[in-house]
Amino acid sequence: GRVTSLSIQEQRRELPIFKLRQSLIKAVTENQVMIVVGDTGSGKTTQMTQYLYEEGLSRQGRIGCTQPRRVAAMSVAKRVAEEMGVRMGQEVGYTIRFEDCTSPETSIKYMTDGILQREILLDPMLENYSVIILDEAHERTIATDVLFGLLKKTVRNRPDLKLIVTSATLDAEKFSQYFFNCPIFTIPGRTFPVDVMYTKDPETDYLDAALVTVMQIHLFEPAGDILLFLTGQEEIDTACEILFERMKALGPMVPELIILPVYSALPSDMQSKIFEPAPPGGRKIVISTNIAETSVTIDGIYYVVDPGFVKQSAYDPKLGMDSLVVTPISQAQAQQRAGRAGRTGPGKCYRLYTEAAFRNEMLPNTIPEIQRTNLANTVLTLKAMGINDLLHFDFMDPPPVQTMLTALEQLYSLNALDDDGLLTRLGRRMAELPLDPALAKMLLISVDLRCSEEILTIVSMLSIPNIFYRPKEKQALADSRKAKFHQPEGDHLTLLTVFNSWKQNNYSNPWCFDHFIQARSLRRAQDIRKQLLGFMDRYNHDMVSCGKNYTQVRRAICAGFFTHTAKKDPTEGYKTLVEGTPVYIHPSSALFNKSPEWLIYHELVLTTKEYMREVTAVEPKWLVEVAPRFFRVADANKISRRKRQER
Ligand code: ADP
Ligand code: MG
Repeated sequence: GRVTSLSIQEQRRELPIFKLRQSLIKAVTENQVMIVVGDTGSGKTTQMTQYLYEEGLSRQGRIGCTQPRRVAAMSVAKRVAEEMGVRMGQEVGYTIRFEDCTSPETSIKYMTDGILQREILLDPMLENYSVIILDEAHERTIATDVLFGLLKKTVRNRPDLKLIVTSATLDAEKFSQYFFNCPIFTIPGRTFPVDVMYTKDPETDYLDAALVTVMQIHLFEPAGDILLFLTGQEEIDTACEILFERMKALGPMVPELIILPVYSALPSDMQSKIFEPAPPGGRKIVISTNIAETSVTIDGIYYVVDPGFVKQSAYDPKLGMDSLVVTPISQAQAQQRAGRAGRTGPGKCYRLYTEAAFRNEMLPNTIPEIQRTNLANTVLTLKAMGINDLLHFDFMDPPPVQTMLTALEQLYSLNALDDDGLLTRLGRRMAELPLDPALAKMLLISVDLRCSEEILTIVSMLSIPNIFYRPKEKQALADSRKAKFHQPEGDHLTLLTVFNSWKQNNYSNPWCFDHFIQARSLRRAQDIRKQLLGFMDRYNHDMVSCGKNYTQVRRAICAGFFTHTAKKDPTEGYKTLVEGTPVYIHPSSALFNKSPEWLIYHELVLTTKEYMREVTAVEPKWLVEVAPRFFRVADANKISRRKRQER
């Protein structure tokens, strides 16, 4: 049922942070910079902004609060708007990439850390803000780490700007040392003991083990909701389906189990469902990525099932690029996960790994993202802010020098940097777009190649996952519908064709349904396109269509993604041009079984083999034309990568 505003205010007063309201305000008033530590769910994210607002700190500027994840930014803003009894986007709003839900009235603004990183690029003094809360700083995303360094400077230049860094873990000392030995404000938790159990032997199939555990809890354990951690959307959707079937098979005698997925691409109407209590006698299970580790707090959880894995992006030297890999979590993460079971009462945590694995195989702490992923985007942003001496930038934990050099080299080959390592005009324009360097380059070159209408659509379509779906019982039909869109040149143009056909059908939902296309995904692509169109307009980049002259489109793809070239291998499959890694065309591709000599892939996914997804056939001479700094030209049909020493 609906929660009345009175009980919402009561809920606010129940939070551990409430008793500390006065001392917190006092501490903020007396200190420019402060670290706040407190258990997940103590009220840091939803309450601090409101306290400061109520005390009038937003009179001189906004109160900004960053979140590492889009879902968290949205869901928290929604909650705060509800607590304040205002419409979303008025006094309280949020901004995430491609979506701005704020207005001139907005005093409390939640946003991803990526958004603040872009804002500080345009306004290093952050004139619009009176307070910045770097929330969930323990997550150590690249954007948060970069903001650490940048805000340190801003704070020195703007004595009136308050900075609060919050953490759910024990990094507080380290944060304090980094930020001028500022005070640490601790919010004592209200936690109950959690009984942690391990498996005796390692599990061979953690998904299956997890689902069995969940069913056992549901059938044999006392009341209380369950939280299961899995690694990604596909896995979570599969788990939901299996659980649903198993529950159905058990018939109506078994108590109700409400099954709720949580991942970043979840539509917002589904997001609010996870906070609704289970019906009396029933139980809810939330199946989540590590979002529910600290970013989003769900009340009523008594049981946590932790298979011990997380999907994170990491630089893969074999592929020469970042890829998302399922890796074991750290001990700190395992502790956080277990803690979720002890918020409402004594709980239980089922670890689906052995105690020996926990002690000996898991790292004590997660490696900060900045030390494990590609930094081209970050380096481009810093260069655009005039920070050229990257090796001496004040990183809390500096990235490896080699990673930095790789990023510089990549930006150089994209022509974003000149021979002296300074930003070129193209580089500056790339930094202005909210896109990764390769996509930004592709889009900017498409203006010169007179196909920006087409490339803009392709960029938008590439920015969303899972456009097509294949229901198990109708895979053949789904595949044949999809094949109608296939273009002989490849998948980028197939995506373009899908979008344009949808447009010709007046953006119709039934049309999507008929073609096994996720209407929601297309609408998101349309949204992203609109946003990007705004940028093209603002920076005076012409929108031009090449009609059916798709060669130009393919040239533009080469200009951005030439490092993703693969050449047909005489024996089988393909080899990447950069590292010579064996790769294969994904069976869903329009070029599967066509095997052109040269192609460009958008990404690699590792399942049974290393598959290239979204591939387009290209001509070697285009590659040489668009990336002379990268390829040796000698013979266009035998191009190879230039060696670094040539520079
Ligand atoms: P912290 O940041 O310290 O982890 P939060 O401020 O996020 O804590 O959460 C405080 C309380 O608000 C929690 O009990 C949580 O369940 C509740 N809450 C947060 N977001 C929502 C939401 N979107 N809907 C309902 N309750 C929420
Ligand atoms: Mg929080």
